[in-house]
Amino acid sequence: MTLTGKMLIGQRAVSGNREAIRAINPATGTPMEPAYAGGHGEHVEQACALAWAAFDSYRETSLAERAAFLEAIADNIEALGDALIERAVAETGLPRPRIQGERGRTCGQLRTFARTVRAGEWLDVRVDTAQPQRQPLPRADLRQRQIALGPVAVFGASNFPLAFSVAGGDTASAFAAGCPVIVKAHGAHPGTSELVGRAVAKAVKDCGLPQGVFSLLYGSGREVGIALVTEPRIKAVGFTGSRSGGIALTQAAQARPEPIPVYAEMSSINPVYLFPAALEARAQRLAEGFVASLTQGAGQFCTNPGLVIAIAGAALDRFVATVSERLPGCAAQTMLTPGIFNAYTAGVRALAEHAQVVAKGLAAEGPNQGQAQVFITRADAFLTHAPLQAEVFGAASLVVVCADDAQVRQVCEHLEGQLTATLHLDEDDLIRAKALLPVLERKAGRLLVNDWPTGVEVCDAIVHGGPFPATSDSRSTSVGTAAILRFLRPVCYQDVPDSLLPSALQHGNPLLLRRLLNGQREA
Ligand code: NAP
Repeated sequence: MTLTGKMLIGQRAVSGNREAIRAINPATGTPMEPAYAGGHGEHVEQACALAWAAFDSYRETSLAERAAFLEAIADNIEALGDALIERAVAETGLPRPRIQGERGRTCGQLRTFARTVRAGEWLDVRVDTAQPQRQPLPRADLRQRQIALGPVAVFGASNFPLAFSVAGGDTASAFAAGCPVIVKAHGAHPGTSELVGRAVAKAVKDCGLPQGVFSLLYGSGREVGIALVTEPRIKAVGFTGSRSGGIALTQAAQARPEPIPVYAEMSSINPVYLFPAALEARAQRLAEGFVASLTQGAGQFCTNPGLVIAIAGAALDRFVATVSERLPGCAAQTMLTPGIFNAYTAGVRALAEHAQVVAKGLAAEGPNQGQAQVFITRADAFLTHAPLQAEVFGAASLVVVCADDAQVRQVCEHLEGQLTATLHLDEDDLIRAKALLPVLERKAGRLLVNDWPTGVEVCDAIVHGGPFPATSDSRSTSVGTAAILRFLRPVCYQDVPDSLLPSALQHGNPLLLRRLLNGQREA
């Protein structure tokens, strides 16, 4: 499939006329064809007008129709075949098996949302039937369902060119909720975005949906991105990226005459606690697991283990010694973009100013290759130097050595909000872990035991979220089926005649939903 370098506004392929972006192959440093001229406010206006025109009919598509649309997108992405894999590998520097796996996750995610849509539980139907004889006042007939918020702006993430980009989790969950989507493509992988965008647009057409259900725009965040977030017809935003980008978009959304929710997933250092008995029993194995998790995908995961916390002693010394044996064997890996590589280099330099180097991976052999690095510092230094607490996006991590349990707790209390907190523990650590758990619950969206945080399952129970700055809204998850809840709001229908009610709320329950009927969940 030939790439055109054009945006998609509904079914129309449109050329931008702002400065063009070209993907840079990070493995070679070479710019790639074609050029993608950026859009501007008028393109945003056109896409939003179409999205708004599509909204009322798309949000009332039947559960079966909407599910079929999500499945059609997955089928169309798979039908792109190797062309998609090759382009994504070239644009991101990520290895082929990783991109193949990510395609599987992306299509699996779309199909999971199709199942969720069909099941209809997300409509959360609640019915309190009329009680005309109730004293002292009768009760009206009250029926509640969830409806879609409106058109959603999605910002593709650089580190998941498929699973968190044009047809990734934000888009899939917004479509599932009944929201049209306008994607602002990430400038790091415009060709991948075009291929996937065309797969989505084809599904819109094949499913007979209004064209405004999906648009794909290119251009700068400061122009196209801000125009999207401040456009009155956009009703919510999904974002994964930097803390500064997420904050800028959240502030722009809050400053609107009608503020809207921004679900920004931004920054997390994912603390890992090595409890004494576990460390004593298996310091070496823990170190090997840590190095593997840290260096996977050049460390470019939002759940990368950026902080290791443990109490000083011989067992921790063994852990550190194994890290310093293993890390020097890890190859430097190509990072996603020259910008991300430069940010990594600067972040590592900032860590080096306040902490000692434990070990480094192999030196870079090509452009934009991040060299893995592990640092160590004492808890009192960590607590007093803000740069040690900042996310360094890539394969860098800091070991914080604590004097005792009280200092572990102090470090824990000092942390900002996190996506994950990991506990490595044995039976003899349970009392300590139980004491720390309430603090960790306040800090993180996912607590995991005797595993590593990289690798996020797409399922019903997962939470990929957490208090600020992990995300801008800790009440939500951006991965898993609960992500749909971000794009819904409740509406109550009081004494509305059956003929006017949406089918989900009709007296005969034609969709066979498990309603909450007069306080009882239906079987
Ligand atoms: P980014 O710079 O935040 O960019 C993400 C998207 O937001 C891009 O489309 C960008 O548009 C837009 N954007 C950024 N700043 C904006 C602003 N002030 N106003 C409006 N739009 C804005 O993220 P990135 O390019 O993926 O990577 C940069 C850094 O983000 C990394 O070094 C890393 O620290 C962090 N990051 C974190 C995660 C995570 O999961 N926590 C994931 C990826 C990246 P433009 O391209 O036009 O700027």
